[in-house]
Amino acid sequence: MSRKTESEYDVLVAGGGAGGIGAALGAARAGAKVCLIEKYGFLGGAATTSQVLAYCGFFQQGPEPVPAVGGAGELVLQAMRDIGMDGQAHCSETTGNWIILLNPEGLKLALDRVLADHGVDVLLHSRVAAATRTAQRIESLTVAGMEGRRRIAAEGFVDATGDANLSLVSGVQMREGDDKGRLQAVSAPIRIGGLDRNIPIEREAVKAAIREYNKDGRFPITREDGGIYTLVPGSGELWWMVIDLPLPDLGSASFTRAEQQARAMAHDYVEMLRRHVPGCARCYLAQSGPQIGIRESRHPAARYEMTGQDLSSGRQRADSVARAAWPAELHGEAGKPVYYAVGGPGYASVPLDSLRVRGLENLFLAGRVIGADPVAYGSVRVMGTAFATGEAAGVAAALDGATGEDVGEAVRRLGGLT
Ligand SMILES: Cc1cc2nc3c(=O)[nH]c(=O)nc-3n(C[C@H](O)[C@H](O)[C@H](O)COP(=O)(O)OP(=O)(O)OC[C@H]3O[C@@H](n4cnc5c(N)ncnc54)[C@H](O)[C@@H]3O)c2cc1C
Repeated sequence: MSRKTESEYDVLVAGGGAGGIGAALGAARAGAKVCLIEKYGFLGGAATTSQVLAYCGFFQQGPEPVPAVGGAGELVLQAMRDIGMDGQAHCSETTGNWIILLNPEGLKLALDRVLADHGVDVLLHSRVAAATRTAQRIESLTVAGMEGRRRIAAEGFVDATGDANLSLVSGVQMREGDDKGRLQAVSAPIRIGGLDRNIPIEREAVKAAIREYNKDGRFPITREDGGIYTLVPGSGELWWMVIDLPLPDLGSASFTRAEQQARAMAHDYVEMLRRHVPGCARCYLAQSGPQIGIRESRHPAARYEMTGQDLSSGRQRADSVARAAWPAELHGEAGKPVYYAVGGPGYASVPLDSLRVRGLENLFLAGRVIGADPVAYGSVRVMGTAFATGEAAGVAAALDGATGEDVGEAVRRLGGLT
């Protein structure tokens, strides 16, 4: 039985994306009393806030889908299947990699259920706004919600905010973007309804429409190959990733410009489909956002930064707590991704030290904020891997002071792959 009162927890998780869900499940299954804090009114992170409708990183590259993620990630897939979602591996038409396709509305429900089933307290519409700390430990977080601000105390903390917001308010040293301060492009995946179901969307027709649009269109399309698109499972809608914009800095003015320009582009491009692509004459923009997709923002200083070399050699380590199997995907130039394969057995070890910040004993990193150099970041940020790093961060936060070997062993007992 936990000794904690209502506003005291063993582990507080900031952020309800793949990293935060993994962390909450990992900590709860390790026996902790857990609270997860999320600023939106639903869980899922980029999958539900930015229409990123495919889980990457669950499987290694290759002719068959060999699993690289189990444990918490598998619990989420099972929760999806339990409500009739597909939750199976599909080979991507554009990259040849194995992905899991998502329906965002189903996903929100599945995530509510899996966390409730594991006794995690969830606070939605709640933003982590400040932290109280000593020299070496965080003691509590200030959470801003509809009722105002309140403080919640805990023993262990996980930053799974994607943008390192908990680390930022805790005074952790950090870098923005790559080693030269450059940020990867932002993108706005969109959903399109009103398609003629009897006419398949032919890539050659989309490419021809783009060529036509690029002659004098307001926002020339850089993905001349037609971009990434697929049907959203369980609906007749098309998911299309074709809108990319450079992000000069992390200021609100830059995000405002990006959001507004992406919106204008989305309307233009849907009009282009209506005019030029068979099957799209009555199509419409069904959904963008709620916010633009942010690939990269801040990187808190971790005790170890995974490197591109770790990935390309498939480096194996005794203190491994998760596997990184997705090829490093770099979006330096908007709309022109470049891929680097993972070597060795097809995955690289993620050591516990890449989930630990420098200088604080009880703050752990999950998802896209873990320690990684600019190349390794292109791999570890994907959502399948984020479930795995989240699970390990949650277990580590629950087992205060455990070594990488101990955390790896605990994760293995929970069915995770290390
Ligand atoms: C356009 C685009 C396409 C991508 N394509 C793919 C793909 O196809 N497949 C794939 O697997 N990955 C893809 N990625 C990468 C992937 O989506 C992210 O790297 C991944 O979502 C990271 O997971 P996370 O849990 O760390 O962060 P996020 O998914 O960003 O979740 C962070 C959560 O924290 C919450 N939060 C933030 N600050 C606070 C705060 N102060 N208080 C409370 N809550 C807070 C946010 O609302 C959010 O819900 C893509 C990314 C982008 C932008």
